[in-house]
Amino acid sequence: MNEPVFLSVVVPMYNEEEVIETTYRRLTSALEPIGETYELVFVNDGSRDNTAKIVRKLGDDDKRVKMIDFSRNFGHQIAVTAGMDYSSGRVVVLIDADLQDPPELIPEMIAKWREGYDVIYGQRIVRKGESLFKKWTAALFYRLLRSMTSVSIPVDTGDFRLMDRKVCDALSSMREQSRFIRGMVSWAGFRQTALEYVREERFAGETKYPLRKMVRLSLDAITSFSTKPLKFAGVLGFIMSAVGFIYLLVVLYQRLFTDTTMQGWTSMVVISLLFHGITLSLLGVLGEYIGRTYEEAKRRPLYLVADKLNFEKENKSEFK
Ligand code: UDP
Ligand code: MG
Repeated sequence: MNEPVFLSVVVPMYNEEEVIETTYRRLTSALEPIGETYELVFVNDGSRDNTAKIVRKLGDDDKRVKMIDFSRNFGHQIAVTAGMDYSSGRVVVLIDADLQDPPELIPEMIAKWREGYDVIYGQRIVRKGESLFKKWTAALFYRLLRSMTSVSIPVDTGDFRLMDRKVCDALSSMREQSRFIRGMVSWAGFRQTALEYVREERFAGETKYPLRKMVRLSLDAITSFSTKPLKFAGVLGFIMSAVGFIYLLVVLYQRLFTDTTMQGWTSMVVISLLFHGITLSLLGVLGEYIGRTYEEAKRRPLYLVADKLNFEKENKSEFK
């Protein structure tokens, strides 16, 4: 085992060469005054730039700097998971590499932990330097998710949070492929509380979350925490059948008891397109779930580690 430390800070990184050294300095100066032992668990998520090299250099002088080096890019949520798997602290903090979440808040989180909370999640009251599109889609997403799930996932939270060891272990024991960590933490329960903060602009570089990854994360979140979209097909089908049946009665009545002739080539085409559209979309919904079921069925490890830095001894299996 590694020497037990009080605090582990998990930092996922994907092409963060522009920020990572500053992040290290800000973290160090925020953590030193706390006066507790700590480790910084950097996870290099297959960066193609010098991120790993920079962290290695930092790790030469400061043994509290540890790194898990992935064999390729596995995605943010998986990187965070690996960091948690390898962390050994009594409490674990998840923080982005780009300094959008202020490390200076960590002492406040620890204070709340001492009050007896197990999870202290950052809740953004303001998001600076993010496009209107990103803010709106995020706001819409959190509300949509809330309306669909039975687990209450707090709105406007990111992954910036402090967790007690027992929560961290609970999460590590959940090995699902499509991971939405915020949701999994809510699912885990325990005593949780929010800490409001202003989300800063990215310190340097650009977002590593293009629209494609955002959509994927949202779909992971919805499919992992709700089966409502699947049931929606049934409800819609029932409504459409009912409407169809009523219309059938109307048509029959007209045919038998009046001399109005049925017309409607155009309406036929419109209805046909509309209904085929709906059917295919619902097949797509099914596909989202079946695809994920298939991924889970393969039981592959969540990530592969190519290299490790400053972890003293093997304490965990490589293949999770
Ligand atoms: N990240 C990662 N793997 C990825 C994408 C992002 O480890 O495939 C990391 C990234 O380096 C950062 C954090 O996840 O530390 C959040 O990413 P980013 O700041 O780009 O997202 P945004 O804040 O724009 O939503
Ligand atoms: Mg960011």
